[in-house]
Amino acid sequence: MLDIIKAHAVNNLCYIAAQKMIPKGIVVHSTGANNQYLRRYVDAPVEVGINQYGNHWNTARPGGTKVCVHAFVGYDKDRQIRVAEILPLNICCWGVGSGKNGSYNYNPAYIQFEICEDALEDKTYYNRVFGVAAEYCAELCEKYKIDVSQIVGHCEAYRQGYGSNHADPEHWMGKFGETMEDFRKRVSGMLQRRTEGVKNRDLSAPETTSIEKGDLVSIADNATYYNGTKIPAWVKAHIWYVHSTPVGDRVVIDRNEKGTNSICSPVHKKFLTVVKKANASAPTHKTIPAQTACPYLVKITADYLNVRKGAGTDTAKVGSITDRGVYTIVEERNGPGATKWGKLKSGAGWISLDFVKKL
Ligand SMILES: [Zn+2]
Repeated sequence: MLDIIKAHAVNNLCYIAAQKMIPKGIVVHSTGANNQYLRRYVDAPVEVGINQYGNHWNTARPGGTKVCVHAFVGYDKDRQIRVAEILPLNICCWGVGSGKNGSYNYNPAYIQFEICEDALEDKTYYNRVFGVAAEYCAELCEKYKIDVSQIVGHCEAYRQGYGSNHADPEHWMGKFGETMEDFRKRVSGMLQRRTEGVKNRDLSAPETTSIEKGDLVSIADNATYYNGTKIPAWVKAHIWYVHSTPVGDRVVIDRNEKGTNSICSPVHKKFLTVVKKANASAPTHKTIPAQTACPYLVKITADYLNVRKGAGTDTAKVGSITDRGVYTIVEERNGPGATKWGKLKSGAGWISLDFVKKL
């Protein structure tokens, strides 16, 4: 869950007009000004710092214009990327303008937010700020039952006839070879991971049990060492034994499962998933035999793996897995396009077992 700053712009005429809405989609904007700091736009001095010019949007007409969006994404005072909501999400904003078919401000009413631009050359900032924006969209899609296809950029709102002629945010995305289509894929991936995560947690005991000495654990893609330093990709690609009884949330991992490496490093327990309990029988690492007892756990070894409706590439693609995570296989079957197909416990579909490692 994102830790969202709530700082309603109560002086803005849009807030005062308070036209009720039910969100039908999301419009993504970017600010068009080189300033990554939320304090430029958001009146929340404690969290985003003081705007010494007083030109934030908690005023009747920011910059002399009748304008308001629901939220901004950018740096807070500690240079953490945060979402700050300046309008309640059940009030129409004045963001996208209008086009030949109408306006996403009212009919249908879309939630709209601005991403704070920098000089549009820093790929790290770009990835991070769009990452938080995508997470925000995923949360909104879940909460308001919005389909990912209803997330549009201002530029697309214009092309669809529901907004003024602006190029944001694709003029920025284009510099890094991306479009709103890539952004929607990113949101879809997050939503799928959330669904998988919830279902796995509901159904599969080993993934929620507490961590003990001797357990085998996998490391999350976004993990850092306990002191915040980066974990190399090769370390994340292995699964590791817990070295000693964890103290609080600090877990020391040491040998990898094959015993070929030893790192003895502390990691926050939130980044670890137990894939085999210490007291369980010894793990097997053979390739998957013709008949395997189900269910069992696998770790995905590909960056992108299709989820299909049935056991074969001749059945429809119903999703994808992009997290190299751990999943439970409840049934195996032969089918075209893979040595063997495995059915996900979540019910999401079938995956090729050529791109998994059995745990
Ligand atoms: Zn815009």
